[in-house]
Parts: sequence; C-alpha cells; structure tokens
Amino acid sequence: MPAADLVRTRCEACGSQLAYSAAAGSLECVACRSRVEIVHAPGDAVDEHAYDSWLATGAAPVALAGDQALACDGCGATTHGTDLSVACQFCGGHLVVASPVEGVVEPEAVLPFAVGGDAARDAFRSWVRSRWFAPGALKKVGDTESLHGTYVPHWTFDADTTSRWSGQRGDAYYVTVGDGENRRTERRVRWTPVAGTTQRFFDDVLVPASTQVPDRDLDRLGPWQLDQASPYRPEYLAGYATARYDVDPPHGLERAKDEMAPVIRGDVRSAIGGDEQRVHAISTAYAAVMFKLVLLPLWVATYVYAGKQWQVMVNANTGEVVGRRPYSAWKITLAVLAGLAVVAAVVVWYLASQGAG
Ligand SMILES: [Zn+2]
Ligand SMILES: [Zn+2]
Repeated sequence: MPAADLVRTRCEACGSQLAYSAAAGSLECVACRSRVEIVHAPGDAVDEHAYDSWLATGAAPVALAGDQALACDGCGATTHGTDLSVACQFCGGHLVVASPVEGVVEPEAVLPFAVGGDAARDAFRSWVRSRWFAPGALKKVGDTESLHGTYVPHWTFDADTTSRWSGQRGDAYYVTVGDGENRRTERRVRWTPVAGTTQRFFDDVLVPASTQVPDRDLDRLGPWQLDQASPYRPEYLAGYATARYDVDPPHGLERAKDEMAPVIRGDVRSAIGGDEQRVHAISTAYAAVMFKLVLLPLWVATYVYAGKQWQVMVNANTGEVVGRRPYSAWKITLAVLAGLAVVAAVVVWYLASQGAG
C-alpha cells in the first residue's frame, strides 16, 4: 500500500494542530490560535474535465483504488484507508492527503466551511427547541451531542442537450349542445400530431458522489452557493473528515441526466404549445459534457435517544438544518386529547343550544 504525502498540520508556534477556521478563512491552531494562510498558485482556477476524454483514458472506475497509508507526524501511528482527510485513530491528529492518486479523480473545487462549530451547535440547539413534539429529554441533548465536520463529495455536470420529440398538441374549443333547458357549452380538445427539436444547456447540475449521506437529506440541505467555491487546496480539509467518492462519474452522469429530464420535458411542453400537451417520446443527445468533483461542507450532530442514534445535519455553507428526531408519544397524545376536548365542547354547546330552542 503506497504511503501518502500529507499536508503539514502541525502548528510551528506550539506544536498543536492546525484546522481550517470558518471565521478566519485560513488555517488556525486549535490551541494558540496562530494562523497560516492558504496559498493558491497564481492562475489557480476551478476547471472542469471533458467527460469523453476522461472516459477514453480508461481511468479507474471507482475511487476505492486510492487506498493509502497515512503516517501521523504526531504519534507515528499509521492509518489506512481511502479517505482524503481523517483524524489519526490514536491521537486525533489531522491527517490530510496532499498528493493525487493515479486513476482517481481529484477534487477540483471546495466550498469551505462558512458556518463554524459554535454556530452549528447554536443552529442545532434552536432546531431542537423549535420541535414541539420532541421529547423533553432531547431538548437537553444540545449540550452533550457529538458534532463533527465533514466534506461530502459531489459531481457537477454541464451538458449541451438536443432533444428530438414527438407528441400531440391539444387546442381547446367550445361547442353548444342540447336543447332548451339542457342547452349548455362544453369544452372539447382538438389534437394535432406534432414533432420537433429543443435545445438546452445545463450548467453545474449537482449530484451526490457519495452514498454515505442519504440523498433525501442532501436534497433538503440544498441549495448550495457554488459560486463561493474555491479552487481545491487540501489545506481546507484540515480538521474535517473527507471521504473519497464512491459513486463513479458514469453513475454520476446517469443521476445528472435524471435531474435534467424533467426540465427537458418542461421545454418540450412549452414547444408543443396549445392548451394541452401529450408527450409521446423524447430522445436526448448530450454533447460537450463537462464534469468536476466538488467538496461540500456539512456539520453532523449525532445523539442517542431511547437507545437509537439520531442525526441532525447543518449545511456549513448556508446554515440550513435538516434532521430526524424522535416524537414524544405523550405530547402527541395530549395534543390529540386537546383536539378531542374542543370537539366535545362544541358538541355539548350544540346540543345545549338545540335543547334550549
Ligand atoms: Zn499553536
Ligand atoms: Zn497520531
């Protein structure tokens, strides 16, 4: 197993660990607060890769080729794995892979943490407080939960699409039917077969490149402000965990096409026009497909309640909170009983007023 070159994450002033700080926008020592700027090479920019060229290189289809040995410069222990950044399993030191791995797509952009750990904790606490149906014990969790920061890899895809379609255009018209009392106007639709071609350029269609966070949660955490992304430097990962992608580019592209499909369908409906549309077939060609790997920041709070583990996630770019929490059985019961009491009171009042009348 090859040994990885690691980013220097040791503070020159005190020997403690450097981590990327959302507040400082640079590396900062967790102990003495010394700062180290992240230096970008001149002309460093976020570039996209041509998908067809990448496919032609026959690159390793999955990231798991990137298995490496990460030697901690603090305690000397070696951590193995495919992660881009991880905590040393013995001393908690910040291990960040510095060098690219042959055949593995490297991140091209990173959306740095903009929400710090304290702000994420506050967001988590106010989320908990706003949950009326949450059990009381959960409201105390805010102080004791574990919170860790992670970058979740995503693919972005661009594509110039041309779609040939066929269908029917429906134009409404009105006829008068019946006689006398039954005389009325009815709406009818005249259907005409139509066919044509529509084009649309898609820019930065974002799809998860990791299966570690459920898609449903990632969808709800968005949208992300991708215009705030920086060209990738591994220093941004110091102090956070970063998995490599486990959804390879071909599977990512399939998911991106699924995202494009409803937009294209909408275009086809507009092109058909009329009052109603029937779409029979759409055949789409994807040209000039470009892609890149981008890392998105997430705080994950984990807490245990009633013997189960629950998770709350904070989008560390926008502060959006998404979580799952237990419901309090007795609070829901009380709410239902309160509702029933109102109904009963209304019934009693109604019966009383009927009796009086
Ligand atoms: Zn220091
Ligand atoms: Zn260590």
